[in-house]
Amino acid sequence: MEIACLDLEGVLIPEIWIEFANKTGIEELKATTRDIPDYDVLMKQRLRLLNDNGYKLQDIQEVIATLAPLEGAREFIDWLRERFQVIILSDTFYEFSQPLMRQLGFPTLFCHRLVTDEEGNVTDYKLRQADPKRQSIRALQTIYYRTIAAGDSYNDTTMLAEADAGILFHAPQNVIEEFPQFPAVHTFEDLKKEFIKASNRELTL
Ligand SMILES: [Mg+2]
Repeated sequence: MEIACLDLEGVLIPEIWIEFANKTGIEELKATTRDIPDYDVLMKQRLRLLNDNGYKLQDIQEVIATLAPLEGAREFIDWLRERFQVIILSDTFYEFSQPLMRQLGFPTLFCHRLVTDEEGNVTDYKLRQADPKRQSIRALQTIYYRTIAAGDSYNDTTMLAEADAGILFHAPQNVIEEFPQFPAVHTFEDLKKEFIKASNRELTL
């Protein structure tokens, strides 16, 4: 049996923090782990900025609901789910991704959680586990699934390496050059072809 594992942001949907910053004009929310390498420091800053600007969880979800998945993403995920069991392995939060997952037909998603108080303010976050993408692939292998994974960035490369087959999608040139062992494609049509190639079954477009 085979399972397809997909990254979410940059593959099926835009980067949520960047888009949220664009919609709200809160420039400091554009900071990423490239600017602040310590993820905990970065997340604490993001949560402080949300609270300082008066955004409760519901307001954030309303802004995110105005975003759309990447063009062709819904068609692609429907295509993939007809041929594979699909699990999305993401470093986003359930509460943020909800409006976009609705537009994708709610495929299975493993990601992290936000903590809110009684008034709906976001007070903290809970990571599902350390190294979650790679650990999920390892867990699937213990129940004898063959795994094919696709992602766009550094935080996906341990998942791609652990999987039986890994594919880079929408990856920046530096990631493609650093990881030449993975095929790299940029359109959903080519990604479909890579999944067919990586499968051990006779699949068709
Ligand atoms: Mg990504």
